[in-house]
Amino acid sequence: MMQDYVAPLRLRLDGAALVANWRWLDGMSGGAACGAAIKANGYGLGAAEVMRRLAQAGCRDFFVSNWGEAAALEPLLEDGLSLSVLHGVRDEDMRHALASRARPVLSTPTQIARWREAGGGACDVMIDTGMNRLGLDWRGDVTAMTAGLRIETVMSHLASADEDRPLNRVQRDRFAGLQGAVTARRASLANSAGICHGGDFHFDLTRPGLALYGGIPRPEAQDHIRAVVTPQAQILQRRTLIAGDSIGYNAIFTATRTHEVAILNLGYADGYLRGFSGRGAALLDGARLPLLGRVSMDLIAVDVTARPDVAEGDWLDIAYDLREGSAASGLSQYELLTGLGARYDRIWA
Ligand SMILES: *Cc1c(COP(=O)(O)O)cnc(C)c1O
Repeated sequence: MMQDYVAPLRLRLDGAALVANWRWLDGMSGGAACGAAIKANGYGLGAAEVMRRLAQAGCRDFFVSNWGEAAALEPLLEDGLSLSVLHGVRDEDMRHALASRARPVLSTPTQIARWREAGGGACDVMIDTGMNRLGLDWRGDVTAMTAGLRIETVMSHLASADEDRPLNRVQRDRFAGLQGAVTARRASLANSAGICHGGDFHFDLTRPGLALYGGIPRPEAQDHIRAVVTPQAQILQRRTLIAGDSIGYNAIFTATRTHEVAILNLGYADGYLRGFSGRGAALLDGARLPLLGRVSMDLIAVDVTARPDVAEGDWLDIAYDLREGSAASGLSQYELLTGLGARYDRIWA
């Protein structure tokens, strides 16, 4: 994006790691094609850049939640790429959806009727196999419900693929049992975690999101998935605390000795939520600079006593290992990514 304003906070995004993560997931998907969930602005990284980079690497199938997200990506939808809109079509979406090259993922009999009556073209269909969120009930007569549709991909979604639960196998078997019942070119079940359950779960197309962006959905991925996102924030002020001084809202940290402190331009409005208060850190040359006191809306304070060289105007990396950050903050890895707000400059390297 061309702009002459340089924000005091940025996301350093590792394009090589993004592509390497997709390639690993693609390899793990075996004979199935590997797509990419890029909803919620590419889990906070920027959907257009993610789509462009993954398409260049060979990814063909992309998934967003709604038509607003799809519209923003349509200019990138070159021949051979497919974009599916997971939340289907409401009445309010129809004018746009009929003119779009993206496909709706139809989830309800009402959506199917709407699409059929309007003479909509190729679509996808979601069948619920036990999550009880979106999709046609797998117990119903899905053959009759989907008759006359031109279905590109029939899909279902796993409720707890990140855990070892009997429900995974149950959902997989229900979905496999429907393969004769719905006429579709391809079948798709697995998200990032589902891919790790092995070949039985892959069908024709997989749909990872989290792991593309550096999230670790299951232990099997730990040594293969690379971090993609590093938040960085600029130091707005350096100051000295002496014993007895407190810092930040509600004075939850009080110094018992002298501390040198850097005030950074980052806060909970940037997705760095208050769960990091007293637990987060900045990183410099591999050393942790611990956060002191409470996260504010737009500011945090870190201890730079050990680094007399760090000054106003310098940039610090924020510790953002998604697994560690999740454990420290109480937020899920998904929340740590999708919460990254609009104020960062997103810099791809
Ligand atoms: C978000 C989503 C995905 C991707 O899931 P991850 O857990 O992020 O890999 C796949 N399929 C559907 C239907 C989704 O909503």
